[in-house]
Amino acid sequence: MTQAQLNSDAHRASLGTALITGASSGIGSIYADRLAHRGYDLILVARDQVRLDELTDKLRTETGAKISVLRADLTNKADLALVEHQLISDTSITMLVNNAGIAANGPLAGANLNQIEGMIKLNVLALTRLASIASTEFVARQQGKLINIASVVALAPEMFNASYSATKAYVLSLTQTLHQEISKYGVQVQAVLPGITRTEIWERSGIDAANLPAAMIMEVDELVDAALAGLDDGELITIPSLPDTADWTNFIAARAKLGPNLSRQHAAPRYQRVATS
Ligand code: NAP
Repeated sequence: MTQAQLNSDAHRASLGTALITGASSGIGSIYADRLAHRGYDLILVARDQVRLDELTDKLRTETGAKISVLRADLTNKADLALVEHQLISDTSITMLVNNAGIAANGPLAGANLNQIEGMIKLNVLALTRLASIASTEFVARQQGKLINIASVVALAPEMFNASYSATKAYVLSLTQTLHQEISKYGVQVQAVLPGITRTEIWERSGIDAANLPAAMIMEVDELVDAALAGLDDGELITIPSLPDTADWTNFIAARAKLGPNLSRQHAAPRYQRVATS
């Protein structure tokens, strides 16, 4: 399809609107770019109104997309309620990109607990509420796409710190079960597991990106293009840098093998100690 056809009102109406959280920078801003160029209208959510307005102007000019900005701090209950209301009331929304997230730096022992609490509110609580509401709406309409941005540290918690990795393990687990719950109603669900990606998240969390190994860092455009290719392929889990999908399939198979033995009537023999009088 030509860009003119992608920009046509009829094509846009057929795709509907994508609501993207954390759209003011990094991964979210590239999703906004790519989805507008694919023919989606957009609702951009984040706190930085100036950056959201600049992105809106640029993408409107380039694509003719209808774009609205919803300025919201997703750790604030009233702001989050505005986004939730938008998901319920705007029936043109066909896609949620649950992307907004922050990282914490350092070990849990001695951590700044206010920072950890804010991260959990954003990465876990807000993401869960929005995923739940979008699921309800999409199931009722028998269509929709729900993308949750997790991280490879969901699979390799030792690579990073405890609290951030745990929030991303939550997102992975939530997405896997959500898929089981709603895919039968025509709703597509995807978890994206980026590795280290060149965005502002590092500086924002007080980590010097210059100290990260260059061979492990992906550019953000490449990351989002790969994630969207995975979405087009109908993947539930997309790990953009993983060369061989058999590694993932084998991992899932190993987990499935545990299944029949994870809940049984009796403890395993190695835990059955002989009672001493
Ligand atoms: P980023 O450039 O720092 O973007 C984070 C986005 O979240 C910004 O748009 C920010 O906008 C928004 N945000 C932060 N706090 C918010 C709040 N309280 N309310 C609403 N929006 C808020 O980082 P990024 O790397 O693109 O991160 C996007 C997602 O990718 C996150 O979930 C992150 O965990 C995940 N991820 C990143 C990497 C990586 O290496 N970069 C790796 C794995 C996973 P405002 O400041 O304008 O609110």
